[in-house]
Amino acid sequence: MIQLEKARALAEKYTIRPGTETVSLEDALGRVLAEDVYADRDAPPFPRATMDGYACRQEDLPGPLEVLETIPAGNMPTRKIEPGQCSKIMTGAMVPEGADCVIMQEYVKSEANGTIIFTDSETNVNIDPRGQDLKEGDLLLQKGTRMTPGHLGIISSSGMTQVRVARSLVIGILATGSELIETDQLPEGTQIRNSNSHQLAGQVRQAGHIPRLLGIVEDQREVLAKRISVSIENLDLLILTGGASVGELDLVPGVLEELGFRLEYDRVAMQPGKPVSFAHRNEKVCFGLSGNPVSSFVQFEMLVRPYLDTCTGAIPVNRRITIRMGKDFERKKVDRHLFLPVFINGEGICEPVDFHGSGHLHALDKAIGFAEIPAGHTVIRKGDFVNVRLI
Ligand code: AMP
Ligand code: MG
Repeated sequence: MIQLEKARALAEKYTIRPGTETVSLEDALGRVLAEDVYADRDAPPFPRATMDGYACRQEDLPGPLEVLETIPAGNMPTRKIEPGQCSKIMTGAMVPEGADCVIMQEYVKSEANGTIIFTDSETNVNIDPRGQDLKEGDLLLQKGTRMTPGHLGIISSSGMTQVRVARSLVIGILATGSELIETDQLPEGTQIRNSNSHQLAGQVRQAGHIPRLLGIVEDQREVLAKRISVSIENLDLLILTGGASVGELDLVPGVLEELGFRLEYDRVAMQPGKPVSFAHRNEKVCFGLSGNPVSSFVQFEMLVRPYLDTCTGAIPVNRRITIRMGKDFERKKVDRHLFLPVFINGEGICEPVDFHGSGHLHALDKAIGFAEIPAGHTVIRKGDFVNVRLI
């Protein structure tokens, strides 16, 4: 059994490099930038009114002020503001030369002769100066950024309609277990629906890659070996679930070795999720995850996702928060790093969800993350701080 950090480091030595491709912005959400993106102009590109009102000189207030023109957003002002003058201006429009503030429309009274008077005692400037946010040529986004909706906005503001991103990996998902049936079949007696494959496909998608559902394979050495050898040809990476432990029918690590894969680990000091293997052969990689659904979920988050991020060069985003625990928690065995599914309660602190162990798939319904309880720790008291890894 090895520590989680050691397991991550071992796998990272065998990183797949997927190369890059160019995609349109519509397809870029969740992908990892393979180039730096720079600003092609100042932002704002001109002094910009932040309020609807009148552009004028502070020293002329409260007026009366002569109104020269109306400047909607998108129009160039045609008149310079001289003493005793102003121009009506809309939010987002270019502030005319000579003006040093925009007084809000709400604090302006119109006089019969067409002039206006400021009715408040002071005003904010209400002008965003040119280049306040960014200067032309500034680095907007760093290579390795995983794109969120905000990033898409930033990229489009720089005039780019497509971006270079890391190619997504094609990831096969193969469920092992003679008790398994597909979701559309009716289970009899001891049969179990294959829920891991869809759960993993979602995780793969969320990580920005392409899942290939390869169905179910029974616990039979030759059949399993055949399925792995055939499927791996068209994949970058294969994720197996089930048969990962030390039982007589836990065939995955052994079969991978028989097929010439080099097994880097097959046990990690985490709970849930101890039986998990990583193997590689000629640039192809396999993760053997547990059959238990919560274990498989945690193993993907803690081992597979960080590995995929290394492959695409994604800049790691810290998803760990420190938060108070809302309930006492105690455990007996302390040899592993525990990931306890938690939710945030109405008081804004975390509480364990109802959790009966690694087979309890439904515990993932309300969980927003996993509280991490390091090896050696038995008790967490209500009010103690814990680290929570958000999912
Ligand atoms: P295993 O790791 O093969 O020993 O499986 C551990 C437990 O997880 C058993 O109760 C299995 O029935 C269950 N299990 C295995 N594979 C799946 C799957 N694909 N979907 C849902 N449950 C599974
Ligand atoms: Mg099994």
